[in-house]
Amino acid sequence: MFPIEQAVAWLSFMIATTVFAYKMRVIDRWGAIAAVPMGFVILYFGSILWFFVLLIFFVTASLFTKYKYKQKQKMGLSEGNSGARGWKSVIANGGPAAALAILYYLSHNNPIFTLSFTGSLSFALSDTVATEVGLLSKTKPRSILNWKEINIGQSGGVTVTGEIAALTGSFLIGTACALLLSEGILSHIRVILPAAITGGMIATNVDSILGATIQAKYTCRNCKKCLEKKTIHCNILTIQEKGVSSIDNNVVNLLAAIIGAAISASFIIIYY
Ligand SMILES: [Zn+2]
Repeated sequence: MFPIEQAVAWLSFMIATTVFAYKMRVIDRWGAIAAVPMGFVILYFGSILWFFVLLIFFVTASLFTKYKYKQKQKMGLSEGNSGARGWKSVIANGGPAAALAILYYLSHNNPIFTLSFTGSLSFALSDTVATEVGLLSKTKPRSILNWKEINIGQSGGVTVTGEIAALTGSFLIGTACALLLSEGILSHIRVILPAAITGGMIATNVDSILGATIQAKYTCRNCKKCLEKKTIHCNILTIQEKGVSSIDNNVVNLLAAIIGAAISASFIIIYY
């Protein structure tokens, strides 16, 4: 919490950053509109340091989405719209972190929420980086359920490259949180990093399991291509093949983020 003049200054900074991200086509218009209040909630109820962690996530995730974008686009695997994220993606990735910042404030800075915040962003970065790097993997992904080879870009697939990327992502967030959010307490520094890696890695793989099971999958009635969205393909509406119709990739992300946050929060037992 800080005085109103500071709040206005930070809000201006956030709007400027978001406009820049929009111009760089990192987020689309509605994504930008969702990102500003979310960033502000994290800054206001968490702290400026919490906001820095969010910024590290945002910049790294954006760089990896843009990385070899042309190649991913050619393969038909890219996030649409030049990789610009929409509001659903912004909320699925940043929403849990914003909610945890509010809980942190309401609980008078209970460290359990610092750990859950770490876990939710660790998952968000692990998952984004694993997906974006995994798409470029030279070997075909295997299904997390039965280990059979599946097509690149299909939900529920894992690759070694993707797992290494996920580990790098959770390590990065873990280190950032240990340095910025530990309040200089040595025992906290030692716990935050393993909490981030464990929460981030388990949640990333849970995300793949949910993606392979409950997430809605559609097929084109003409070319039999498997799609993640109810859409028009080959000029006809796709039909749902499996999964729950209300559960799309963003819902799966949100569920996995909550799981990641809970796993990291459980490290509170060894915090003291
Ligand atoms: Zn088709």
